[in-house]
Amino acid sequence: MRKLIIANWKMYYGPVKAGAWVRAFRRERLPKDIDISIAVPSVSLAAARSSLGRATIPALAAQNVFWEKEGAFTGEISPTMLLEFGTSMCIVGHSERRTYLGETDEMVAKKAAALQKAGIAPVICVGETAVQRKKGQAKRVVKSQVANAIADLKPDGRAQAVIAYEPIWAIGSGKPCRPMDAKEMHDVIRDVVSKAWGARYRDEIRVIYGGSVTDRNIYEYGTTTGIDGALVGGASLDPRNFALLCRASSPA
Ligand code: PEP
Repeated sequence: MRKLIIANWKMYYGPVKAGAWVRAFRRERLPKDIDISIAVPSVSLAAARSSLGRATIPALAAQNVFWEKEGAFTGEISPTMLLEFGTSMCIVGHSERRTYLGETDEMVAKKAAALQKAGIAPVICVGETAVQRKKGQAKRVVKSQVANAIADLKPDGRAQAVIAYEPIWAIGSGKPCRPMDAKEMHDVIRDVVSKAWGARYRDEIRVIYGGSVTDRNIYEYGTTTGIDGALVGGASLDPRNFALLCRASSPA
């Protein structure tokens, strides 16, 4: 399976800076054996697309979506609107949205299903807090987040879901989860998927890791079996640094 590295710009870069980021990144040497995507704020999708033109590297992703097609939902953005920018992926359930915007498992499931229906791959974020890990509840929490999020998804076809394991204590903290510990949780996630969809999907689902990934530690994640790539926040804000991280991810 090809590895996937997604830049999550979070709430950085409006249209002007987004366009400049994409142009700078496109000038960098990029590995051909991995998939690279950038998740940009919705208001910057048009600028990022315009700087990309028809180029598909990096693929364009969104950071949020609403589950209805259209209607009286002021301020929200539908999957079909995202499609107009050639968006091929969209993050759902990021812990920052769960914490600050009250995004629940039920909302995450609805968003993921609506995206898939429109042909956009949902990138479903799951992960435990430091307290939950300390209390020995991490696996239970993550299992339930995954089972709820994939309940209405189809395993096959276009727009296959990606699961991003992002322990909350590792996000933006400079304290990444050790690759072997991440792998252990990825195995738990694969068990849930296999139970819901059938054994063959255990290895077919892409499970990526997120939480303080940098150009210095990406190689360890990229070369750990069961870790199919990374979701990168802080270390993706500089286009040259993110390109370096992408190059450092594989032995090639
Ligand atoms: C993220 O934004 O999803 C993330 C993992 O951030 P960081 O890489 O900064 O920890």
